[in-house]
Amino acid sequence: MFLAQVELEDAGGWFISNQHSSAESRGCQDGHRWEKVERTLDDGFTYFYHVCKICHQTIYTGSELEKIMDYSDTHLFLSVEDWTLLLLFVNGQYIAGITHYMKMLFLAFCEFSPRHNIPSENPGFYGYKYGPYSDRIDEAIDFLIQEGYIRAEGRKSSSKERFFITEKGSRKGEIIYDKLQQEKQVDLCTFRQYWDTKTTRAICKYVYAKYPEFTDDSVILKDLFPERTLHRKRG
Ligand SMILES: [Zn+2]
Repeated sequence: MFLAQVELEDAGGWFISNQHSSAESRGCQDGHRWEKVERTLDDGFTYFYHVCKICHQTIYTGSELEKIMDYSDTHLFLSVEDWTLLLLFVNGQYIAGITHYMKMLFLAFCEFSPRHNIPSENPGFYGYKYGPYSDRIDEAIDFLIQEGYIRAEGRKSSSKERFFITEKGSRKGEIIYDKLQQEKQVDLCTFRQYWDTKTTRAICKYVYAKYPEFTDDSVILKDLFPERTLHRKRG
């Protein structure tokens, strides 16, 4: 498994995946409300993590993270970095715009991996301006760029920004890709190709319609679903 450096927080010994956003900035003014999530994979491997019931931030303890990393040496278990690189690897084409990239990753985690039974890290998606957003993915993209696995061109955070996989990234991507069974590989290529042909607006519309719990803070909801916003106003 491929993980960005995570920092050990002094208090409690937690590995916290993201250090930049405070509880307040994520809408947890009175602090996070952690809930333990226990998972058992088909082969009996168990692990747990904590997720905030309000903002969905996810944390793994150091010992659980180590356990998962050991497991992933010999079994299929994909981290956020793995998925972020894999999506770019599967067809070698660039992805245009962080919103498109983020939404594709959202669908990879919330639809593709459960459908194909691919054990994966929980990126802790929460509702943000442009729908489901993950600080963890944001951090993984920065890490992959810094380490030369991904290259970004164009103004940062604009729709003109393009994400390319580098040669170093392709070598790493291939290792992750090879862990998937052939049928999953084929479906992942189809998945990527399908969303490549859609506009960012189309992928957003699909995600917002299917996952309304992530749309509360969206600034483009009104534009995509004018009728729904009207209805809300009347209510
Ligand atoms: Zn929280």
